[in-house]
Formats: sequence, C-alpha cells, structure tokens
Amino acid sequence: MRDPRDHHDPGPAMPERRSVLKAGVALAAAPLLAGVAARADAAPKPVDVGGPFSTRAFGSASASGPLGPLQVKRRALGPHDVLLDVLYCGICHSDIHQARDEWSALPTAFPCVPGHEVIGRVQAVGGAVTKFKAGDIGGVGCMVDSCGTCESCLADREQNCVNGATFTYNSPDRATGEHTFGGYSERMVVSERFVIRIPPGADLAATAPLLCAGITTFSPMQHWKLGPRQRVGVIGLGGLGHIAVKLAAARKAEVTVFTTSPGKVADARRLGAQEAVLWSDTDAMKRLANRFDLLISTVPETYPMQPFMDLLKLDATLVNVGALNQLQGLNGMALAFGRKSLAGSVIGGIAETQEVVDYCAARNIKADIELIRPDDVNRAFERVVNKDVRYRFVIDVASGKPRSATERG
Ligand code: NAP
Ligand code: ZN
Repeated sequence: MRDPRDHHDPGPAMPERRSVLKAGVALAAAPLLAGVAARADAAPKPVDVGGPFSTRAFGSASASGPLGPLQVKRRALGPHDVLLDVLYCGICHSDIHQARDEWSALPTAFPCVPGHEVIGRVQAVGGAVTKFKAGDIGGVGCMVDSCGTCESCLADREQNCVNGATFTYNSPDRATGEHTFGGYSERMVVSERFVIRIPPGADLAATAPLLCAGITTFSPMQHWKLGPRQRVGVIGLGGLGHIAVKLAAARKAEVTVFTTSPGKVADARRLGAQEAVLWSDTDAMKRLANRFDLLISTVPETYPMQPFMDLLKLDATLVNVGALNQLQGLNGMALAFGRKSLAGSVIGGIAETQEVVDYCAARNIKADIELIRPDDVNRAFERVVNKDVRYRFVIDVASGKPRSATERG
C-alpha cells in the first residue's frame, strides 16, 4: 500500500524540460516514510519529473515540533539536475537547531524538513549532466547551490559564497525562490555540481555522516595543516567530535578528547585518542596548558572558552565549529600575550567534500552509527540533545524497501 497522497503534481507544462531528460522519466515510487512496507512485486508508480512533483518527507510545522510525515514539493528536473531516491540521512545537531529555530541569525521557515547528510540512488539525470547516470550512488551535504561566480566560489569555497550559499534546507532555492527541504525525505532534486560521488563498496549508511560531520572537521585540519605528531584537542565527543578523532588519528596527530561525559572516556581511546580529559579535571587542564597546536570545538552551546584557549601553544588556534550563537568567556590579555587565535569554520567546499569522502573510503574511515527508522527521529533528537548518541544517528529512509547489494553497501 502506498500513500495515495504521493501523487504527481503536474505543475506548469514544461515540454523543454521533458526533452532534456536522459533517463528515468517514469520512476518507481520509493515507499515508506509513513512506515508502510512496500511489496517487492508492487508495480512501479510513475513519477513525471518534467514538472514539480511532491514527495513524502519527515519534518516539523513549528519550532515546538514534533517532526512528522508531510508532503513537500520538489522542482522539475533541470538539465543540470540529478533526481535522487534517498536511502540514508544522518541526523546532525544542526538539524535540531534549525527545526527548533534556535539560530537567531538563521531563522527557520516552516515547514522545516532537515537533513544534510544524504546518500541516495540516482533515478534520473537532466540532459546536460555528465557526472552521474541512473543507478549511481550520490551524496548531498549541507549545500545544494551557490552563486558560482564570486571569489569564494571560484576558489572552491562555495560554503563561503559571498552571495550566500543555498543550504540543503531552509534556504531560498535559486531556481524557484521557494525554501529548500532536506534529506529527511524520499526524493531530492539537486544540481550535479553539488552531488558527491560515493566510491564503490562504501558502507553507505556509515558514509552519510561524512557529508557534514566529516567535512566540517576535515576542513580545519587541512586549513591549519594538522600533521603527524602535532597535538590536537577535540572538544565534545558527539557526531562531529568522534569523526574528528578518527580523522586526526589517521593523520598520526596526537589526539586528546575533552568531554563532559565520563562514560565516553573509554570510547575516546577506542576511536583513536591518546587521552580523554573531563572538563571538570582541573589538574589535567593545568598540566595541558600551552601544549596544543590545534583545538576543534564541536560543542553546540556557548561556554566559557578561555580555559581551552589557555591550552594552546603560542600562535596556535582554537577552531570553533560548534556553537554558532554569541561566544563567551574570552580574555583579551591572555589571547594577546600568547598570540592565540580563535577562528570559526563552516563545513567545506564541494571539492573538499569529495576529497574527504574519497580519503575516508581509501582508509576505511566511517562513522559509528545507530540506524533508525524515520518514525524514531523525535526520540533520536532527544538523545542527541542529552549527549546520548554513539555517535551518529542515521535514518534508514527507505527502510522496508527491497535493496540491491550496492545499496546495502
Ligand atoms: P552532537 O552529536 O550533539 O555532539 C556535541 C557534543 O558536544 C556532545 O555529544 C557533548 O559531548 C558535547 N556537548 C553537548 N552539549 C554540551 C554542553 N552544553 N556543554 C558541554 N558539552 C556539550 O552534535 P554534532 O552534530 O556533533 O554538532 C555539534 C555542533 O556543531 C552543533 O552545534 C552543530 O550545529 C554544529 N555544526 C556546525 C557545522 C559547521 O559547519 N560549523 C557543521 C555541523 C554541525 P561530550 O559528551 O563529550 O561532552
Ligand atoms: Zn550538519
């Protein structure tokens, strides 16, 4: 049984779009966000992507939530677009911030469909697409478009687009003006430029988190040139933090985790850290003063940062990728005397995202995940907020749907 609401919205007639499709004009409807298993022998339901169409999604109607099933509209497939059937989508803490409208600088437009760690199977491509063909596996991270012409975009730093990158959700779509919807949904239409190639043989569910958590922690390590035997600290052992530990260990850096959770100390070592220090351990904080080449803070809330700035060596940098609201607790004199820097960093460019996905595939680096069904999302949100995720939830968007061996990864 399929949801009868999953109908094609014919939208305006766009014959020119129809003529550019290379494959997959009639597509099998993906089952399941409503939790109903599809029969393997069910007849494929045609979806005409020559016009806008509706797809099932999981999102929230207001900041007080909860998330639930809804329908959203996807744009018609343009010549440079790829249509993806979503297989897996990671749950990033940013999804929670955005769904709950917690970022004053980036207010949420409702309905909000989060999700920016997306792995999908290509169902159809526009006529000008060269990077993908139907059947390929593609990934979508935090961005789906950018101006493409500014200095940042020309330098492969679309995330810093001076005209504003189009984020995967809660951004005005440059093509339609309507706000974007993320990967907690059955289908997405994304420009091929923003779809990442997923190497064959990858564990697809555990690769999804690389598309945000991976690139967000890899990019500062690249920019600040974290090298072997350098000492790096990872503050906060959650989704971003645990991948940061794996990435830093792969570079043969010496990793220290700073955690508020005594139960994560052993995990930190298992993930590749030499040491795990509780924030409350004042002796350790003293012992580690002036020792670090790089610190990466993944903590979602603001906190007094000076005790961590004190851990940096002369000229070293604490890169904040976590809290995106007003920062607090910095001492000007201590920063000046130690010529220490506090920097921010947001995800990474598309080329660098491809790089981290390939880098991790080559080294078998993947996220530690808990695979859940779409209707477990609200419970998962609560567990993330309570620091109780080990270490990334990934939604099995197509759960129940028969899969090929490639899709199972
Ligand atoms: P997460 O899975 O919830 O992990 C955050 C970890 O920080 C927690 O597991 C916890 O680790 C620690 N923590 C949480 N609340 C804390 C508090 N009040 N005080 C001290 N420590 C706390 O979140 P995530 O998905 O990794 O995302 C982390 C942050 O990065 C979010 O704010 C997200 O929006 C942001 N983000 C930014 C970018 C970017 O491009 N800059 C990209 C993605 C995400 P312990 O238990 O070890 O203390
Ligand atoms: Zn994210």
